[in-house]
Amino acid sequence: MMIGMVAALASLENLELLNVRLPMEDEACLFQVSVRNGKWTRIQIQEANAVQPDFTSLEHWSPGATTDPSAICQIDLEGKLLLPGFVDSHMHLDKSFSLTTVGNVTGTLEEAVRNYSAASPGFSKFEIQSRMMRSSLQALSFGTTHIRTHLDFNMRASREVALRTIEAALEARQLLAPYVKLQLFPMLPYNMNSADVEVVEEALRMGVDGIGGAPHLSQTPKEDIDRIFGLAEKYNLPIDLHSDETDNPLMRTVEHIALRTREYGYAGRVTVDHLCALASMTDEDALPLIERMAESGLKAVSLPAVNLYLQGRHDSFPVRRGVTRLKQIWDAGMKIAVASDNIHDPFHPFGRGDLVQIALIGSYAAHMGSSADLRTLLRMITDVPAAVLDLEDYGVRPGVSASFVILDCESPEELFTLLPDRRWVYNQGKWLRMAASKASWQDTALSKYWEQASEMVSFLKPLEGG
Ligand SMILES: [Zn+2]
Repeated sequence: MMIGMVAALASLENLELLNVRLPMEDEACLFQVSVRNGKWTRIQIQEANAVQPDFTSLEHWSPGATTDPSAICQIDLEGKLLLPGFVDSHMHLDKSFSLTTVGNVTGTLEEAVRNYSAASPGFSKFEIQSRMMRSSLQALSFGTTHIRTHLDFNMRASREVALRTIEAALEARQLLAPYVKLQLFPMLPYNMNSADVEVVEEALRMGVDGIGGAPHLSQTPKEDIDRIFGLAEKYNLPIDLHSDETDNPLMRTVEHIALRTREYGYAGRVTVDHLCALASMTDEDALPLIERMAESGLKAVSLPAVNLYLQGRHDSFPVRRGVTRLKQIWDAGMKIAVASDNIHDPFHPFGRGDLVQIALIGSYAAHMGSSADLRTLLRMITDVPAAVLDLEDYGVRPGVSASFVILDCESPEELFTLLPDRRWVYNQGKWLRMAASKASWQDTALSKYWEQASEMVSFLKPLEGG
């Protein structure tokens, strides 16, 4: 599975783009937009279908043709859609592509956790890092420029196993920094003793970006949440928790998370993910809880593909599907994004790191298909997750770094109908994918990771014992 990437990643920091469609600005108009020194300088409504003879059609333009880095590249988008780079607010890059060695026969969350935990001591740092590099580059090829990834932290195996993933992730984050930005959130174990806390603090001092966890899996979730808030405050880090990822309507750890968020003055710094239990509750139970979450300043992420896959596994008919109340959470004024979660691992056997695909799955799962809904879904993979990640330098507006994806379609309706594979991705002054290019990462510093990871994961290899 080769993704077309440009071989030469020369900096081209000055762009003039004509006939651009910006669905998050004004869909009735076309725009001419300018980038200088890698930043947006001008976003201007233009006359319809303007023709300027010195502009080259994007279909025929190639970055390789421009040798002078100070030149201004003049490109005609011919009405194609341009969106700010997608933000994947919840992935597990370290686990990606592990499905070939870690199976999940029952398809439950419990078995996935158990099997991955048993296998993780056998993964070398190199393998973990390679998997992270590959899934990040794959996501980048579909237009994702920023990723928050949760990290396995298997202290139950040993300190060395837990810290191995952190070290691999720190190196991957550094190698990928010129192309795609990662935020790293280790998932703290529960029921920790004081020796455990020492290892956790060691990890937090290594330079991770925040604290993760899954307190609903603990026997003592309130104590675990309290410990996480204590550590977050001590190290001044944001919190991002898997919350109530279960069909059990009585699971309400998010209530305690909301309480502590208010007490710690952490409004805007805490994200709650999954929230599947809300989908099993009655309206009478769910709506006041959503209200409380909104008042506490929580941000949220839904993982529709993985929840559809893992939830409802203990039901006979009717089978619950697990995806949280996307629309009601949105209507309550909370920021809620949709994200990928897992790719080809025991938690989820599919996925390609494409947030357009995830938004479409969210549309089916949450009955969001009206024209207004499609525009909301576009926000759920762009500016909303950017707020979840607390990105300040984001968007299509003057003064902000130009980070964007161009899609081969002319409207959100066309985008969700065609799921165009042809995309052009620009970030940090570089064209990182040209749809027409057949080249891969060869000749770049990243090529070895792409190839090694590609070798390591064969989609055709049968599961052991499967
Ligand atoms: Zn997750």
